[in-house]
This record gives sequence, C-alpha cells and structure tokens, in this order.
Amino acid sequence: MKFSLLRLANIRSLFAPSLQQCLICGKHSQPATELPGVCAGCEAAIPWIRCPRCSKCGRHVGCSDCTRSSEPGPLVCNRSAVAYTSVMREILGRYKYRGDEKLASILGLMLDRAYSILKEEREQLMHSRLPVQSRFSNNIIFSVRKSERNLLWQADLLVPVPVSDSRLVERGFNQAERLTEILSRHRGIPQLPLLIRTHHTGKQSFKTRAERLADMKHAFAASRDSKVLSSFEDLLESLNPQDRPLQIIIIDDIYTTGSTIRACAETIIRLSASLGCTAEIYSLTWARS
Ligand SMILES: [Zn+2]
Ligand SMILES: [Zn+2]
Repeated sequence: MKFSLLRLANIRSLFAPSLQQCLICGKHSQPATELPGVCAGCEAAIPWIRCPRCSKCGRHVGCSDCTRSSEPGPLVCNRSAVAYTSVMREILGRYKYRGDEKLASILGLMLDRAYSILKEEREQLMHSRLPVQSRFSNNIIFSVRKSERNLLWQADLLVPVPVSDSRLVERGFNQAERLTEILSRHRGIPQLPLLIRTHHTGKQSFKTRAERLADMKHAFAASRDSKVLSSFEDLLESLNPQDRPLQIIIIDDIYTTGSTIRACAETIIRLSASLGCTAEIYSLTWARS
C-alpha cells in the first residue's frame, strides 16, 4: 500500500508542473503561461501596452509631447512593451543598478512582444497601401499572392543606445546591449553597436526640456571601430537599399522624453546618408514612462 502510494506520487509529479521560483517576486507559485521564469501573479500584473494611444511615441496615455511638435522628426515611431509603473520601475532598478542579470531574459522576451506589435502594425500599414484591386480582385490572384509575400516587415538591423564609458565601468554592462542581443537572437536580426556616446550627459531628469535638447545634440557619434563600420557597409551592400529605405531599430530600456533616441536616430541617419543610403529609424524600448 505504502509502495503504491509512493509510486502514484512519483507518477503525479511527472505530470504536475513543478513550482519554480519566480524571478520577479521570488515566490514558488503557479508559473506564467507566456513568460518563462515568472509566476502567474507577476505576469498578470504587467502593464502591457497592447494598443498605444499615441501612434508616434507608443505612449499608453494621451501625449502632449508629440502633439506639441508638428515636425516629423528623425524617428518613424517608438513602441514600448510596458507602461513604466512603480512595479516596473522596481524591476528595472533591480536589473540595471543591482545587476540582477537573471531578469535580462524576461525583459528581453517582453521587448520581443513590442517587436511583434510594431511588425504587425507595419504590415497592416503596408497592406492598406496596396492598390484596392490587387487586394480584392479574383482575376489577379497571382499578383495578390506575390504582393502578400512582400508584406512581411522585418527590421534590417538593431542598434543599442550606448552608455558612456564611466557608466559602463559603474554598472559593468550596457542594459540596452543585453536587450538587443536577446531580440537579435530571437528574431534573427543582425545587431551592431553602431553608436558611441561622446560625452556623459548626466541625470536628464533634473534638466529642463530645452537644456536636455541642447545637451543631446552632440551626445552621440558613429562608432570609430573599423570592424563595426565595415560590418555596417557589408550589410548595406547585401540589402540593396535602392529597393527601399534601410529599416533600423534603436533599442533602449526606457523612453522618457525621447530626446536620447531622437539624437541616436539623427546620428544613424547621417551615417547612412554618408554611405549613400536612406534609413528609416524606429525604436523599441522596454518601458514607456
Ligand atoms: Zn512572481
Ligand atoms: Zn506621443
């Protein structure tokens, strides 16, 4: 009797999901369905941005920053995985400042969701721009198939926002680079550290909008690493950018005013132009504040 109960328990444990320790709250509870390493409770508390209210910066609430300026700017759009709530701030703090690297894979997976949303939106946009007859006419089914095949949107390159050397020494890693690596592996999109930070801009949150903009103007430059630059040139050659603009995504952990990302975008646009290419710049950030 004792033996068979034990056996039953063993068989059961083969089928029951083991309760893993959650990487966010540290408790042993029911695992999440979509985020490995996280418990169902923590997953349910994530403030995903599924439908951005601002189509430009991906914000989940009405956005005065984007409506204030009517100029198009260097960025097509930003999309973020989550709203920067206090819970998300706590998670980012643990990852970024306390070096809790186990969180990197979760943040990377979350960023991957934002990529899906961006990809889907771009594909819908491309579809809506197709001539009506090629979408609905039965007679030209072949051309529809052909154009549908072209309706897959994929970024050509991922570029992390660089941190200054002093930050790198302080933290030991660049959080944007880690996120870029994960997304790159997951989606099979090449990545390059195309940018460097030319000076340390200090804490942006203590500055006025005007100060911030002036500060950012010269904060980034193209990498001087000949290996990086030649990889970029190889990529341009392989893509034949005469067909369409180069689609580049800048990656960072958080989008606050967007001044950092816009400055990065301008630098990449200039670099691409110097190599005879037009670049379309997007950004993906883990959180939108
Ligand atoms: Zn949890
Ligand atoms: Zn906006």
